[in-house]
Amino acid sequence: MNGIVHVPPAGNEPALDYLPGSPERTRLEAELRRLSTDSHDLPMAIGTERTLGGGEWRTIVQPHDRHATLGRLRDATAGDVERAVAAATEAAHDWGTRPFEERAAVFLNAAALLAGPWRDRLNAATMLGQSKTAHQAEIDAACELIDFWRFNVAFARRVLDEQPLSSPGTWNRVDYRPLEGFVCAITPFNFTSIAGNLPTAPALMGNTVVWKPSTTQQLAAHVTMELLVAAGLPPGVVNMVTGSPEALGRVALTDPRLAGIHFTGSTTTFRHLWKTVADHLDGYRSFPRLVGETGGKNFVLAHPSADPAALRTALIRGAFEYQGQKCSAAGRAYVPASLWRDLEADLVAETDAIPVGDVRDLSNFMGAVIDETAFTRLAGMCARADSDPALRRLTSRVPDDRDGWFVPPTIYRSDDPAHDLFVTELFGPILAVFVYDDDAFDDVVRLVDSTSPYGLTGSVFAGERAVLDAAARVLRHAAGNLYFNDKPTGAVVGQQPFGGSRASGTNDKAGTPGHLLRWVSPRTIKETFAPPTDYRYPFMATEG
Ligand code: NAD
Repeated sequence: MNGIVHVPPAGNEPALDYLPGSPERTRLEAELRRLSTDSHDLPMAIGTERTLGGGEWRTIVQPHDRHATLGRLRDATAGDVERAVAAATEAAHDWGTRPFEERAAVFLNAAALLAGPWRDRLNAATMLGQSKTAHQAEIDAACELIDFWRFNVAFARRVLDEQPLSSPGTWNRVDYRPLEGFVCAITPFNFTSIAGNLPTAPALMGNTVVWKPSTTQQLAAHVTMELLVAAGLPPGVVNMVTGSPEALGRVALTDPRLAGIHFTGSTTTFRHLWKTVADHLDGYRSFPRLVGETGGKNFVLAHPSADPAALRTALIRGAFEYQGQKCSAAGRAYVPASLWRDLEADLVAETDAIPVGDVRDLSNFMGAVIDETAFTRLAGMCARADSDPALRRLTSRVPDDRDGWFVPPTIYRSDDPAHDLFVTELFGPILAVFVYDDDAFDDVVRLVDSTSPYGLTGSVFAGERAVLDAAARVLRHAAGNLYFNDKPTGAVVGQQPFGGSRASGTNDKAGTPGHLLRWVSPRTIKETFAPPTDYRYPFMATEG
């Protein structure tokens, strides 16, 4: 192809409403029935090979209906990971030297397929496997992943367009090379869009990838992989290994050809990955790029001038949607006493009335937490909190795992703002509230900044505009995504670039040109058209 191509302008995919009787609801319900009647074998995807891993068997169930088996997979062994690295290495030259538009077309096609014929399948897989409501699945598995694929293409084009100046007689060019080696993408359970973006953003820039999804997200990851193949992704560009990360850590992360890690998940895991790389630094051919987005303990800070109804809605949506399992979920709230008097009864009554249950019943607002481990951790935490004299539970429901791993939306109040409930990420539907004297707002802003090690998201609610700016100055490093009079969740690609610093990660903001730059290693080429033929400079001439 001979041409300096333009790419289609990127815009956000509109979310469908799934109103009763709507065609999208009818289609989604049919797909939910179809996917939940079978138990699916979930193989790895290594080059053209589709086989189950060689390790331990694992069963996937529906978290809200934990006796319903959804699929099975096997852990990747060292041999499986070795074949995935080999397939990525073999595909690297062809993929990395293709013209940009050929790679871009694959992801634009994937976005179009997901916006159309694959939408219901990936949404249904996300609902069943990760216990997301139709709305939460739609804004994640459909809209956000479509946005990532479309915006990344537009932003990558912008990156490639960034070229240096050339003085007369020369031509300077930058070749945005893929990294030398393979990229390892390690993805979390909670967002199908993140799982889809982490392997494909480096691939768009010409890299080949070994991808290890979270076991509990494997059904949706499997559908994503099939969709990419249907969109024209050549074999070996993204190689998916399944199950336990043990062999991946031992084989791929210590391989001399490891060029980068693209990670989203917990802070503990990312620290472990960083240390693994540090321990093997002498053996790598280059310095692996480490991009990791991790946990948060996100705040909602209200000023006495805040609107109580807006605050109540933001707390409920921010803390409890997707069972508090968003990295951006609100975990701690700071409310002035005057406002709390108006807010408490309504907030608690509404929270206690939130419909929680099977996500196939679209009248529910919340489903179940992801698995038994999460349930046991959260139920144990609630039991300890209930007998902690420094805490008072305001809501009335308790965890119940008879049918599924249901942890109800729960609010604790404490007069100790240094209590662990305001510090540690819980990753469940649990909100800690600190009520402060109205005239202590300035102290509380500093408290918000210094309480937790994270720096991911936060919200400030105030009717007085100047308060917002003053608080934002103090909270400059407390959040990579700060919201004024809005909940701290729900960032949209292209609108609120997402990510945080401190213990929340490297803040590379997926879905931006800066993020794509992490996956290239630019090479500068200077060409001189009429090279000098005499080493002497004019100033060396002697007078006369
Ligand atoms: P996790 O860290 O338990 O797992 C993430 C991935 O890492 C999984 O695929 C897992 O198998 C793998 N993994 C775990 N141990 C590993 C090891 N030793 N070596 C190699 N891989 C390993 O996280 P999770 O429970 O899936 O996700 C929840 C966490 O992710 C929360 O802390 C949440 O805040 C965070 N998160 C952050 C963002 C963000 O953008 N900042 C987005 C989503 C989730």
